[in-house]
Amino acid sequence: MNRRILLLGGTTEALRLARRLGAEAIYSLAGLGRVPDDLACRVRVGGFGGADGLAAFIANEGIELLLDLTHPYAAQISQNAARAAEIADVPCWALRRPGWQAGPQDDWREFEDWDDLIRLLAPFSRPFFTSGREPLAHLHEIPEHQHWTVRCLQVEPAPTRAEVIGARGPFSLESERELFARIACDVLVSKNSGSHSTEPKLQVARELGLPVLLLRRPALPVVDREFAEMGTLWEALQQRL
Ligand code: NAP
Repeated sequence: MNRRILLLGGTTEALRLARRLGAEAIYSLAGLGRVPDDLACRVRVGGFGGADGLAAFIANEGIELLLDLTHPYAAQISQNAARAAEIADVPCWALRRPGWQAGPQDDWREFEDWDDLIRLLAPFSRPFFTSGREPLAHLHEIPEHQHWTVRCLQVEPAPTRAEVIGARGPFSLESERELFARIACDVLVSKNSGSHSTEPKLQVARELGLPVLLLRRPALPVVDREFAEMGTLWEALQQRL
């Protein structure tokens, strides 16, 4: 591959693609998770300073194609990517992973924001949060009748009526079944990431007849080309490069 690519990452798919790119490509991470040190391509870590900063980086590095493979809930960087590509006049391609779809046995409800979620959680006593770090900022506000389990990337000390689990996917069906049984949750809270690696929890919720509260997906910008899955993106890349 000899075209100069800037790959915006932070997802399993992005890392998988980064592993296939050569030294002329740049793989960019925000810096919240693990930084791989075994890639052939260049890895950079940290923000660019908004759309203008990203556009300047693209111009300075002679980038010819911007790939947005960030998480579907990372709306800011996706907005910046679309805008920066316009400013720098390079194409922007994005992986827009479809959300999970509820089946006939599922009881899924969407929430807008934290206040909305707290209102929906009121009838439950043991929510299991798998929606990121936001619940950690509210551990001092746990209602009297509730115990919270929060799973996020890093473990943190928790007050009495909470448990914080530090773990990163993929999660197997078996391990999710065991976890749900141990924490005895009565409702699951999640983003609708559409990722295969975190999907087994939905199967377990279905088996146990538990409701699932899903954060509404943010709107993402339209870009030059959008791909629903990696196979077609990879094929298009090979044709272009
Ligand atoms: P965000 O709100 O969309 O972005 C916040 C800022 O972080 C951006 O404005 C940008 O800073 C910087 N940034 C984000 N992704 C970057 C990247 N790949 N390379 C360089 N800078 C980046 O993003 P977020 O929701 O905080 O997520 C941060 C990262 O974690 C993303 O890369 C995303 O793919 C990954 N991630 C997010 C989630 C989630 O649920 N949000 C889940 C799993 C993984 P500047 O404006 O300074 O450039």
